[in-house]
Amino acid sequence: MAADAEEVLNCACYDAAHMLRVSLWKDPSGPDLIVTVHLTPRPLLKRTWEALRYVMSRDLPHGHFEETLLRVQDVPRLRRLLDQFEQASREASSAGADDGPTGQKVGPRSTPRNTADGGD
Ligand SMILES: [Zn+2]
Repeated sequence: MAADAEEVLNCACYDAAHMLRVSLWKDPSGPDLIVTVHLTPRPLLKRTWEALRYVMSRDLPHGHFEETLLRVQDVPRLRRLLDQFEQASREASSAGADDGPTGQKVGPRSTPRNTADGGD
């Protein structure tokens, strides 16, 4: 199953681990805009150590985040995708979707469309 629209944005450093995939999934109940990030594979002990530090609220040198530096030439593609998301949200709201008047969702869907696990 493919998204209705999708953009893959490279980081300014071109490290594939910093790549973002932004996917728009349209649905009569309201669209989802999903940003997929890559989790850097690390050895088990390092991940366990970082998890313990996270649980104990100890900061890592770069925090518990990875970052992507977007390039200005990617703005039109991202803007186009965001416009499509906004349009689909408005259409779903006017069609009576149950997301309320602002179109904001209060939580994730009960059936997530995660394809990272090799789904469809
Ligand atoms: Zn980068």
